[in-house]
Amino acid sequence: MVRAYVGLGANIGDPVRQLKQAIRLIQDTPDIQVRTCSSIYRSDPVDYLNQPDFYNMVAELETTLSAEALLRRCQEVEQELKRVRVIRYGPRTIDIDILLYDQLLIQKENLEVPHPKMKDRSFVVLPLAEVVGDTERFLIPGTSESLGDWVKQIGNPRGILKLEPMLTKREEEKTNVENRKC
Ligand code: ADP
Ligand code: MG
Repeated sequence: MVRAYVGLGANIGDPVRQLKQAIRLIQDTPDIQVRTCSSIYRSDPVDYLNQPDFYNMVAELETTLSAEALLRRCQEVEQELKRVRVIRYGPRTIDIDILLYDQLLIQKENLEVPHPKMKDRSFVVLPLAEVVGDTERFLIPGTSESLGDWVKQIGNPRGILKLEPMLTKREEEKTNVENRKC
């Protein structure tokens, strides 16, 4: 069993619902167990500004799948939720990225782990810190830094809001999705 972390994001359709559906599909995979889910964080779009807010979360998984097989499964889930991506960094129904896979460093054309852009993204680092807990002792493979260092570097970020469970519940009620423990 390997511990892996995935980051999920959505900003069109019904983002909260899509995040929860994606978690459910990942959980339904025979070789994957979802251990912990972060809260959902809402943030202003960054690269391409003229689009709706983003909703992001991180899940801690245990899996017997290889990193490549986990990537394929994440891409299948994206397809199942009919991800539409017209513009790079633009709107998407769901995006699932592998952030970390055990202590492995992977540098392949189709898979880079640790995810190369996660360090500067508060919408990844903050939910990751939430599921990890002891961020000081959580070392990032391939770096001499801990997750705690990254959290400090992000400081007090603007434009990101950790949604209260009540709010996500209200958004769920609006969309008729059951409240499931991840
Ligand atoms: P984004 O960069 O916005 O996540 P995509 O989800 O379309 O864009 O990903 C583009 C490509 O990134 C995928 O085809 C995938 O092979 C590659 N990729 C490289 N490293 C990773 C990773 N750690 N997790 C997910 N996809 C990755
Ligand atoms: Mg992606």
